[in-house]
Amino acid sequence: MGSILDALLKLQEVEIQLTELRQRIGAKQHAVRAQEKRIAVHTTELETKRKAMRDRQVEADRLNLDVKSFEDRVAKLRTQLNSAKTNKEYSTLLSEINTHKADSAKVEERTLNLFTELDAAKKIIDQEDARLADEQTRLAEVRKSARDYEQQVADRLKALTSERERAAEAVPEPVLGTFGRVAEKHDGQAMAVVLRTNPRREEFVCSGCNMGVTLQQVNAIISRDEPVFCNICGRILFLEGSLTSGAR
Ligand SMILES: [Zn+2]
Repeated sequence: MGSILDALLKLQEVEIQLTELRQRIGAKQHAVRAQEKRIAVHTTELETKRKAMRDRQVEADRLNLDVKSFEDRVAKLRTQLNSAKTNKEYSTLLSEINTHKADSAKVEERTLNLFTELDAAKKIIDQEDARLADEQTRLAEVRKSARDYEQQVADRLKALTSERERAAEAVPEPVLGTFGRVAEKHDGQAMAVVLRTNPRREEFVCSGCNMGVTLQQVNAIISRDEPVFCNICGRILFLEGSLTSGAR
């Protein structure tokens, strides 16, 4: 194994630590965004319910007025009834009164139902208001947790970042670019050790994807100072232990 592979292994070591740290920071930020989203959804739902409640309140108020105007009308008809001149006039007025009373009873029932619905809706909205307040408290907590964590690891992140820069200096430019792309694809794990699957046979696999590595590739890793990639997962292959001394 050549100096490039040695440099890559050092870089890999830092890269993994850096990736883990960034993922932990990312997870905290993700929790904040998820909570913000939850609150946004609840707020919209609650607003829709409030609007429905307001609409029902308006309808209930209107029906209440209708009941009042029925009552006024019936009162007027009763006065007319008392001064009715003929039987015919009397019975017409009486029938009109009865019709109004029946209509009024229907509206009154509808109004009552609406007020019952409004009471129930108000209770639900109050409960959801309380739930939303809890969600806001939780948001403040996860925000604080994310902020605290970022502060707590800021120095380590800075140290690892400059350590990565130093480790990267020892790697030639094109190889470094490839390393970065492979690392990004595999959670920082740009490199994979080659494993011998059978001590008596020259059969090898990439530890990253468990797919076969040829003897030719193994020999290239031993003899050349350039990265050899797994044909399947694209990771940069390296050797450990007895394999480094030669597979032949
Ligand atoms: Zn592989």
